[in-house]
Amino acid sequence: MTAPCPSDCHRHHCHAWRCRVHVPAALLMCRAHWNMVPARLQRAVWAHYRRGQERDKRPSRAYLQAALRAIAAVADREATAEWEQVELVVGVDHG
Ligand SMILES: [Zn+2]
Ligand SMILES: [Zn+2]
Repeated sequence: MTAPCPSDCHRHHCHAWRCRVHVPAALLMCRAHWNMVPARLQRAVWAHYRRGQERDKRPSRAYLQAALRAIAAVADREATAEWEQVELVVGVDHG
């Protein structure tokens, strides 16, 4: 699913942190990452989406804010998962 993708690739990618999955320009993220977005934020993204915004590159400010929140929510979940890995490795004791 995560096909290798050169750094100069100009296709549209999932906006999640470090994700290089190709997605249609109208979509913010690949399915795996989108499924990590809380439903409330998913609804906000679609509520502010305007047809054709990916072509004229003029999404509304409200859309961008909703998109940023969704991206941040996924990054937060992924970072938490990474910290749990680190803690496992170094043996952090939450006592
Ligand atoms: Zn690519
Ligand atoms: Zn992704």
